[in-house]
Amino acid sequence: MKLYDFHGGIHPPEYKHLSNQTAIRQLPLPPTLVVPLSQHIGNPAKPIVNVGERVLAGQTLAKADGHVSAAIHAPTSGTVVDIAMRPFAHPSGLPDVAIVITPDGQHQWIEKQPLDWQHADTAQFKQHLQMMGVVGLGGAVFPTHLKVGDKLQHLVINGAECEPFITCDDLLMRERAADIVAGVDILRQRLQAENTLIGVEDNKPEAIRALQQACAGLPIEVVVVPTKYPSGGAKQLIRLLTGKEVPHGMRSTDLGVQCFNVATVYTMWRAVVLGEPVVSRIVTLTGAVKQAGNVEALIGTPLAWLLQQAEPTYSGQQAVVMGGPMMGFELPDLQAGLTKASNCLIVKDPALFPPRPAALPCIRCGACAEACPAQLQPMDLYWFAKAKNLGAAQENALFDCIECGACSYVCPSQIPLVDYYRFAKSEIWAAEREKKAADLARTRHEFRQFRLERDKAEKAARLAAKTATPPPTAAPQALDDSKRAAIEAAMKRAAEKKAQNADAPAAEAKPKKDDEAKKAAIQAAMERAAARKAAKESGEAAPAVETPAAKPAMDDAKKAAIQAAMERAAARKAAKESGEAAPAVETPAAKPAMDDAKKAAIQAAMERAAARKAAKENGEAAPAVETPAAKPAMDEEKKAAIQAAMARAAARKAQQAAEKGDPT
Ligand code: SF4
Ligand code: SF4
Repeated sequence: MKLYDFHGGIHPPEYKHLSNQTAIRQLPLPPTLVVPLSQHIGNPAKPIVNVGERVLAGQTLAKADGHVSAAIHAPTSGTVVDIAMRPFAHPSGLPDVAIVITPDGQHQWIEKQPLDWQHADTAQFKQHLQMMGVVGLGGAVFPTHLKVGDKLQHLVINGAECEPFITCDDLLMRERAADIVAGVDILRQRLQAENTLIGVEDNKPEAIRALQQACAGLPIEVVVVPTKYPSGGAKQLIRLLTGKEVPHGMRSTDLGVQCFNVATVYTMWRAVVLGEPVVSRIVTLTGAVKQAGNVEALIGTPLAWLLQQAEPTYSGQQAVVMGGPMMGFELPDLQAGLTKASNCLIVKDPALFPPRPAALPCIRCGACAEACPAQLQPMDLYWFAKAKNLGAAQENALFDCIECGACSYVCPSQIPLVDYYRFAKSEIWAAEREKKAADLARTRHEFRQFRLERDKAEKAARLAAKTATPPPTAAPQALDDSKRAAIEAAMKRAAEKKAQNADAPAAEAKPKKDDEAKKAAIQAAMERAAARKAAKESGEAAPAVETPAAKPAMDDAKKAAIQAAMERAAARKAAKESGEAAPAVETPAAKPAMDDAKKAAIQAAMERAAARKAAKENGEAAPAVETPAAKPAMDEEKKAAIQAAMARAAARKAQQAAEKGDPT
């Protein structure tokens, strides 16, 4: 098969022999596990367990938070003893949230859930990978479910493992080639790849043989590539195997190519076929240790405990590198837990890693540009980063730099160029984060101002509506026609009822002890209640209740009606006492016709009643009862007789009192 070379590259000492001589070792359970929630590109996973909870191996500890995220699982059975900030394996040295588990020693698994991948649709396949926490184990830890959607022309499997010292992929390919190839075959079918290639550097003959045997009969080709650093870079391997260059600003999928690391494919196969989430990985322990080799370690294993398994022979300050010597970083704290990205731990000693000489000025020799596999101008990026001219650094494709370190390796001035690029990238990311935070804060402030103004305006409107004295007809005018009609109808019914009530005493002709004023008040209350009910049924605000101030608005007719009712009651009482027929009750319609003659008749009836009472007390015959019809005939003589009788009665009463010794 034709191979294509890529620009630049270097050939550093490999040191792979230190750790590739023995088989992968299984380790005992560590005393504790510190499982970080940020083990992938994107949002950290969200914890779904609590402190004190017992968990089983493979149980989800934290679920994916959003599309660019992946789940985190319990590596073994045990008890969650803490969820807190813990040391984290990162160059920044900053801690991060981790779930701490004390293993119970039983390593009891949850029920495993394989996927029927041949019948699952793309969404189900993606969801399964995300739920199983499958991410890129080659170092990038990019969630794998984000890479399995598009149909491909070339499926490239990365078994190059070009970084010195690291041999975990080599041992994995040697020992588990069949499982890897089974995973590759699943991907090949799912992504309908026309061409499937596994690229392996020629310094791994045993792995190549194992893979070739496993691929027998399958449309999968194992391609042996020359050993050159960094042939394991995704873009470099794609170039090597397919001849395609991924241009600046584009992704390989835009060219119909996708690249997966062999360890990623292996964990994907376990997740799909065995139903096991990612709870462990193969790690190379090498450098200044007695037991160099590869171990299968649980995620979360404390790095200090892990290194003890290899028996370090040196323990200087910041003596452990995670990753390789080219792209790795010195671990700030060995209490951090192993992550999915941790492929290698190297214990440094002065023999293997002599101190780097002091950096000298750049002599513009151009060696760095010749070595750069991304075809950048490293010396220019160095100047821009040093001068904090971050805009210029970005314009010169700073983010195309894969931090391979080839430029630093060849620099005769010993300038730690990659450190400058990392610094510039972190500054740009920090500035972008600050800009996003500022934009968010400004948006929030503007919305708060808008909300305050809106609340203020609404409050003022409510206050104005409350304090305004509406004209008597204001409320009805504010109502729509249908509502107003409902209220008017209710008031009309109330008025009719009132008229009927006014007629009722005449019809029933029965005396009542309640005075008419009380009735009128009750009637008014009923009218108001009827109006309110009508308003409520029509969905309107209830009409204003008549306050004392509103009472003057009560019309004169109502007052006159009450007055008339009181007069009629007095007349009926007087007529009853005098034994006369009760005067006819006046209806409201007849009321205006009530004249002075009627009033005089009432007065006369009262006088006659008094005369009869006086005559009775005197033992005299009661004066003849005058009928209303006879009243006009009552003359002055009769009046005089009554008054005389009254005078006599008074005299007798005074005499009787004197005879009894009454002081009065
Ligand atoms: S290799 Fe070093 S000295 Fe030479 S141009 Fe690059 S940065 Fe400058
Ligand atoms: S570290 Fe960046 S600039 Fe230097 S050689 Fe690698 S890709 Fe090029």
